[in-house]
Amino acid sequence: MKYDLIIRGGSVVDGTGKPAVRADVAVNGDRIAAIGLLADATAEREIDATGMVVSPGFVDLHTHLDAQVGWDPYMTSSSWHGVTTVLMGNCGVTFAPVVEQDRAFLAEMMESVEDIPRQAILDGLPWDWETYPEYLDSVQRLRPALNVVGLVGHCAIRTQVMGERSLGDEDPTPEELGRMADIAEESVAGGAVGFSTSRILLHFVPDGRYVPGTLAKIKEYEAIADGMNRAGGGLFQSVNDFGTKFEHEIELLRTMAGRAGDVLFSGGAGDGDMRFVEYWDNFLNETASTVGTRRNVDGSQADPAGEGQDVGGHDGPAHRRGALGRTARSGASRRVDRRGQPQGHLVRPEEDLPARPR
Ligand SMILES: [Zn+2]
Repeated sequence: MKYDLIIRGGSVVDGTGKPAVRADVAVNGDRIAAIGLLADATAEREIDATGMVVSPGFVDLHTHLDAQVGWDPYMTSSSWHGVTTVLMGNCGVTFAPVVEQDRAFLAEMMESVEDIPRQAILDGLPWDWETYPEYLDSVQRLRPALNVVGLVGHCAIRTQVMGERSLGDEDPTPEELGRMADIAEESVAGGAVGFSTSRILLHFVPDGRYVPGTLAKIKEYEAIADGMNRAGGGLFQSVNDFGTKFEHEIELLRTMAGRAGDVLFSGGAGDGDMRFVEYWDNFLNETASTVGTRRNVDGSQADPAGEGQDVGGHDGPAHRRGALGRTARSGASRRVDRRGQPQGHLVRPEEDLPARPR
């Protein structure tokens, strides 16, 4: 048998949880054609993977590569670690939607939150968009080496709709709330896999105020979820203020698990105290029992004290269609792995460390 490619002698970890097996992997075109002992087979190209792990690509669910994609199509360091799909736009900080006069503000906010230099952001991206779907089109033209999926950020939406008032604790007017929901709808309809927000009291704009959305009420998120649902549903991602508003934040997550369906939150890896991991475990099980079935939760990738942070609600439109899976099958498929990816429930510990639950 002749194949296009054979990766020989690696330790194959297939992602199903089975133990690793020593095997060859044969590929034709963009498909795996055979896995096993293929000593008699030949290929156009062979790779010796002796001593290495051969596995499906990883999905990196928490990145801030929204600007780096402009000057680093390999999107390191994610790609160095076997990641083949990245989720961008986490924690509310995105560069769309935006009007020209707000570009510098969004770049400065990203610098302040994620330490990516403002000038690199302004110089490194083409800034040829206003809406989030237009941003994704622009990223597509940059020809990133990895599959890219994106969340539209609360900070950018609030800035666009409320201007200066977005930075305070003032609620949006009903009209503003409607516009936010419309932007969420437009973004998801145009390829965003969901919406993200920052609520942790560690993310500031350069003048020291919290980033837009930090103090938003649950009602605002419900309206945004409704907007996403009009476009078929999307993922809700948040980095939460577990330090000072633990119960409220849990309530927000619980609400969004019901309203939006798929929830991904950053909770911190703790400092080795396993009680913290147990708390999250109980929370995820409890949430599953009230809004649906707990789905794959896995926080073991980076830190033994880490815990996964994914709540899978089963009654939201996003789940019915599967936020990442839906995009893989929709017109936005050019933005994700054509072979289809897992449903986006691998999780990784986050750097943001909340206070220990009481
Ligand atoms: Zn983040």
